[in-house]
Amino acid sequence: NEEAWLDGEVVEVNGEELTVKCTTGNTGWNSHSASHSPGMALKVRDEEHVVLQSCMAVPGLQQGGCMAVVANASRVHPKDPEAPPSGVDDMTKLAYLHEPGVLNNLKCRYDINEIYTYTGNILIAVNPFQRLPHLYDSAMKEKYRGAALGELSPHPFAIADSAYRMMLQEGISQSILVSGESGAGKTESTKSLMQFLAYMGGRANAEGRTVEQQVLESNPVLEAFGNAKTVRNNNSSRFGKFVEIQFDQRGRISGAAIRTYLLERSRVCQVSDPERNYHCFYMLCAAPKEVVERFKLDSPRTFHYLNQSNCYEVDVIDDAKEYLTTRRAMDVVGISSHEQDAIFKVVAAILHLGNIEFAKESDSDSSKPKDEKSRFHLRTAAELFMCDKKALEDSLCKRVIFTRGESITKNLDPDAATVSRDALAKIVYSRLFDWLVNKINSSIGQDPDSKFLIGVLDIYGFETFKTNSFEQFCINLTNEKLQQHFNQHVFKMEQEEYTREEIDWSYIEFVDNQDVLDLIEKKPGGIIALLDEACMFPRSTHETFAEKLYQTFSNHKRFSKPKLSRTDFVISHYAGEVTYQTEFFLDKNKDYVVPEHQELLSASECAFVASLFPRSPEESAKSSKFSSIGTSFKHQLQLLLETLSATEPHYIRCVKPNNLLKPAIFENSNVLHQLRCGGVMEAIRISCAGFPTRKPFHEFINRCCILAPEIMNSSYDEVTACRKILKKVQLDGYQIGISKVFLRAGQMAELDALRNEV
Ligand code: ATP
Ligand code: MG
Repeated sequence: NEEAWLDGEVVEVNGEELTVKCTTGNTGWNSHSASHSPGMALKVRDEEHVVLQSCMAVPGLQQGGCMAVVANASRVHPKDPEAPPSGVDDMTKLAYLHEPGVLNNLKCRYDINEIYTYTGNILIAVNPFQRLPHLYDSAMKEKYRGAALGELSPHPFAIADSAYRMMLQEGISQSILVSGESGAGKTESTKSLMQFLAYMGGRANAEGRTVEQQVLESNPVLEAFGNAKTVRNNNSSRFGKFVEIQFDQRGRISGAAIRTYLLERSRVCQVSDPERNYHCFYMLCAAPKEVVERFKLDSPRTFHYLNQSNCYEVDVIDDAKEYLTTRRAMDVVGISSHEQDAIFKVVAAILHLGNIEFAKESDSDSSKPKDEKSRFHLRTAAELFMCDKKALEDSLCKRVIFTRGESITKNLDPDAATVSRDALAKIVYSRLFDWLVNKINSSIGQDPDSKFLIGVLDIYGFETFKTNSFEQFCINLTNEKLQQHFNQHVFKMEQEEYTREEIDWSYIEFVDNQDVLDLIEKKPGGIIALLDEACMFPRSTHETFAEKLYQTFSNHKRFSKPKLSRTDFVISHYAGEVTYQTEFFLDKNKDYVVPEHQELLSASECAFVASLFPRSPEESAKSSKFSSIGTSFKHQLQLLLETLSATEPHYIRCVKPNNLLKPAIFENSNVLHQLRCGGVMEAIRISCAGFPTRKPFHEFINRCCILAPEIMNSSYDEVTACRKILKKVQLDGYQIGISKVFLRAGQMAELDALRNEV
């Protein structure tokens, strides 16, 4: 456990060099030579005041012992001697605001299970990795209903409540953006937001399937098909999600729409140890006996798509129970039991498909199912897909090529047939997932007269792994866009307002990431455009693509080529540098349905399967033309951002306190990294340095004239009236702009307290 800061006391000051005695106790990491290293919060005493200092923790040292450390004064930060040991519920209340202070505050709160903390209007949520009793029950919902933000302990309910009230009072749509890395708690937070909104906007004692029940029950359905156990999270969402809850004039839920983003397709046929495939596969294998028999299923260990990894069970998941839960949820969201059977039949067919292995046909270059076992799975897959067995085999093993009006049949070798099999599995699964989303949307229904909405975004956070492919590239593009939105909201808006109001304000710099966005999505010439070009040109390889990138961006300050690689590239993202491997970029960017697969399944006798592969004139024209995943994702993001910019945003930043997924462990440097990536540190800097409260003159006068009633008798102009009030209550540090009064953090509360005394 590497600590980011040390807590200690300054015992001696010698110019720039300080001698620091580390404190003991629960933050007691010790170190020897600490001068140039990042390490945890140190309480340090010099002649006058207490300081905090950064220095490196030396792993392996015992906790508790005191040790003197020589440190550089510039790396020492003061610690508030009067700060409550249990922390403060809003970072902006900290007397001294700096990284170790913020970190220490989160840790103190986490230790006593206070997992939520505000930073101004942003809610920081630290994953407890344990159920905290009563934190989300109905008594809690009742408590937060209508309470002013900041009046009660920080909570997602408070954010949802404030969004809900703002929507009703001001008639503006709202959005709540939940972000954080995998396992940080985004989906859990999203679910509690949705529960609160359903509580506020639901019909009391309503019977049957109400819109709000359907909205809530869409979660288990989408999780069954879109979540999987990964090394980072036992229930990791492998897709992004934006849920738009629509309300009528009176604030009752009247409709909802779910948009999903980039389901991870490769997981359907490729799982690495110790991860799992999508939950639904294991649920189905654990289903009641008659279902398992009907679909000729067996233990997950017998299926290639599942047994590439040694992980079959997750201790917190009961697959047999989840099967029933999922079916019940499907009932609620309006999927008929007939449709449910068809869905699981397709899931079973995919498992059988994966078990077909191919061998070379003797004295020819063509392939055929390897053995009796493969023939059995081919037969079963064909039965379940309700398509012709021979047609299925041909679609896997042969390709028809058209040249100059003639068609030639080409045989695929066993490796190519295996690739073809996996492509079929992936396209079927992704169509199935899209079908579920569309079905949920049509059965919940959209309210065309809806006056406003609250959107909740639960989307993958910034990712950087040992190998980063096209998926990480898209995910990080998402985060760049959201970061820009966040920047624009928190930073630009703030600065522009100050400038507009002509108040004194020292410009706080922030890193604008428009240049990274241009690098990636500019048309023409950005990375996505070059990738599309490469995909359309038959002779391109990932080498030629990488070469093209190097040539084009050799002078771009956000782009570089790693020295030791000939095909990787590095993007300098807002949250750090990421090296991408181009190997599979071209393949993964191609949104291509093999025409033979399309033909096979659209001819299925099962109406459900056929409906996943509709035959339409455009479809057949498109199937031969290239369509790009990168470009369509870019457009999806664009739409999302357009929707978001028409709303008033609220932010929840989720933090994963450790990588062991265990309660009560708080890894300082890990948390710090996440706070930096999420822009929390910058937001703190901005909101504290500025004037978080601003009120138009007339509003201010209406609210506060009671503090100086005499002004009402004179004919002062608004500015003078405001000045008189502020002078009378002896507030300082505030500013008067052109149309508004600007107050420092906490000053509005002071005024309100005074008003209550009058
Ligand atoms: P991913 O990006 O992988 O989908 P995520 O951010 O959505 O990750 P979650 O699935 O919400 O992460 O949370 C991971 C796990 O952490 C949950 O399954 C749950 O066990 C635990 N957890 C998260 N938030 C809470 C909470 N508020 N109370 C209790 N446990 C929680
Ligand atoms: Mg999730």
